[in-house]
Amino acid sequence: MNEAVPDLASEHDPVRDPWRGPMRAALEEAARAPATGDVPVGAVVLGPDGSVIGRGRNEREATGDPTGHAEVLAIREAAQAVGEWRLSGCTLVVTLEPCTMCAGAIVLSRLERVVYGAADEKAGAAGSLWDVVRDRRLNHRPEVVQGVLAEECAEVLTAFFRDR
Ligand SMILES: [Zn+2]
Repeated sequence: MNEAVPDLASEHDPVRDPWRGPMRAALEEAARAPATGDVPVGAVVLGPDGSVIGRGRNEREATGDPTGHAEVLAIREAAQAVGEWRLSGCTLVVTLEPCTMCAGAIVLSRLERVVYGAADEKAGAAGSLWDVVRDRRLNHRPEVVQGVLAEECAEVLTAFFRDR
C-alpha cells in the first residue's frame, strides 16, 4: 500500500485557518482599491466577539491623504464603533504586513492581535524589516499571526503592478 502523499494546500493549520474567513473580507476591501488607482491593500477590525466593526482599504490616491492606509482607516472606523480609542480584545486583519506608521497605530490602539497575509520584505514593520509590534521596549505588544492566505494576498498586489 502507498503512503498517503501529504497535500500541503489542504493541510490543517490550527493557527491560520480560523483567520481565513476574515482575511477574505479584507481581500474584498483590497479589491475595491484599484478603482481609484490605489494599491490593493485591505483591512478589517474584528470586535471581541469576532464581528467586523471596522473596514478600510488603501485610499491614498482617492483622498490625497498620505496616512490613508487600510489599517489606519479600519482602526478609525472600529474606534468610532466601540466609542473609545482603546480596541482591547479586538483583532486587525490586513492583507499586507503593516508599515511602521500602521504598526505604531496598532500598538497605540491596544489591539490584541494583528493578522496579516503577505509579508512586505521592503517595508514591513511586523517581522520583516522591523518588528515594531513586538518590540520589547513597548509596554503593549499584540499577538501576531502572519501568512494567512499569503499567496492570494500577494497575487492581488502582483497583478495590480503588472497591469499598470
Ligand atoms: Zn501602513
